[in-house]
Amino acid sequence: MTARVLVVDDVPANVRLLEARLSAEYFDVVTAMSGQEALTICDRAECDLVLLDVMMPDLDGFEVCRRLKTSPATHHIPVVMVTALDQPSDKVRGLEAGADDFLTKPIAELALIARVRSLARLKMVTDELRMRVMTSHEIGIESPEREAVADTGRSGRVLIVDDRPSSYERIASTLATEQAVEIEADPNEALFRAAEGNYDLIIVSLGLENFDALRLCSQIRSLDRTRNVPILAVTEPDNSARMLRGLEIGVNDYLMRPIDKNELLARVRSQVRKRRYTERLRDNVQISIEMAITDGLTGLFNRRYMENHLGTLIEQAAARGKPLAVMVLDIDYFKSINDTYGHDAGDDVLRDFARRVKRSIRGIDLACRVGGEEFVVVMPETDMAVAAMVAERLRRRIASEPFSISQGSQSLPVTLSIGIAALRGQDDNAAALIKRADQALYRAKRDGRNRVVPDAA
Ligand code: GH3
Ligand code: MG
Ligand code: MG
Repeated sequence: MTARVLVVDDVPANVRLLEARLSAEYFDVVTAMSGQEALTICDRAECDLVLLDVMMPDLDGFEVCRRLKTSPATHHIPVVMVTALDQPSDKVRGLEAGADDFLTKPIAELALIARVRSLARLKMVTDELRMRVMTSHEIGIESPEREAVADTGRSGRVLIVDDRPSSYERIASTLATEQAVEIEADPNEALFRAAEGNYDLIIVSLGLENFDALRLCSQIRSLDRTRNVPILAVTEPDNSARMLRGLEIGVNDYLMRPIDKNELLARVRSQVRKRRYTERLRDNVQISIEMAITDGLTGLFNRRYMENHLGTLIEQAAARGKPLAVMVLDIDYFKSINDTYGHDAGDDVLRDFARRVKRSIRGIDLACRVGGEEFVVVMPETDMAVAAMVAERLRRRIASEPFSISQGSQSLPVTLSIGIAALRGQDDNAAALIKRADQALYRAKRDGRNRVVPDAA
């Protein structure tokens, strides 16, 4: 996918220059001649990244950036400020407005492309997560936009990897006023430490003695547990080639020595804020996945998940020549529990019932609620004889101990009926297996309930 870059500048010649350079690198380019026009384009989600001139009449770049970054609809769009001045105070003002990066006019070609590429890459990841969260929003999960816009970027967990005490002490004491800072002075330990620590940001000095700091950055990027942790590189002023290489391998941001304290604070806040936002997006995606496959009342898997997954488990069993059994459970006379004690009492029974089922089976068994008071348990590597034992144990566990309900002090006797079936050779399939267990369950009901009936092979 090609990233679409919005170039904003009130001077047409500047717009055309950037447009030409970006187009040559196969970016899609849209342009705006004023801050207001830029806001409109971003609101319509028509760009992936903004190159924003600072000096413009009416709305200047700082104000446009601030508005973009405080609106839930646009706060995730990366903004690169393009400034004629290279004053630290200017940078800090931009960072404070939420800018992701800076370019100084006249713009160096390599720096431009490296930064646009790196930010566009991050935006694609965020977009994918956002898209999935949109759907999760429809099923009732709070979307993280509001929290993201309110996040100050403080109190993050930050790891500094630097082997020069004079350098890391300065960085750490500056950051300690608003972040939780740890230092790793041994580069050989850094990767391990990063993987263990659940950090919001890793600051890596690119000038490590006897150690290739870029290699460390690329290792951080490739390890599962650190893949998504942002990296802020600290570089020497005369080493822009290394810095660009860093951006290519996934360094998120960099800071040049001598370090300006306010710039350091602002860049760290910005990375911490972005990190928390993407983590919240990831959490939401995780929750929506769980909601899609589990039953809300009991926490067991739902019917859809069982139907999808049973096929896979059967294929695995067949391929390895292992047995597999299922039991279909149905609570006896459940309707009368509802009728006598109310629907909430019925729900209490269902929850406790599910807990007892889970306690009676192994971790690799799959317990699902497939209907109101109907459950299926899939048991890999289990033959009919063992399945019958498990089922009988469960039947006793239900029947022997009455269920308590939250209203009143009553406890209700509950029984269940169970049909079991096992896989029969290579040609068997999920539907046939469940059907045989269902027929066995039907016989258990017909023969008086509170019993286990195996499929009569
Ligand atoms: P049998 O012994 O033949 O299985 O009788 P039964 O009453 O258990 O079976 P039936 O299928 O007639 O009734 C099931 C009842 O389960 C009917 C329905 O109101 C109730 N039910 C279904 N889902 C829920 C639920 O989520 N909560 C509660 N409390 N009741 C439910
Ligand atoms: Mg029933
Ligand atoms: Mg039923």
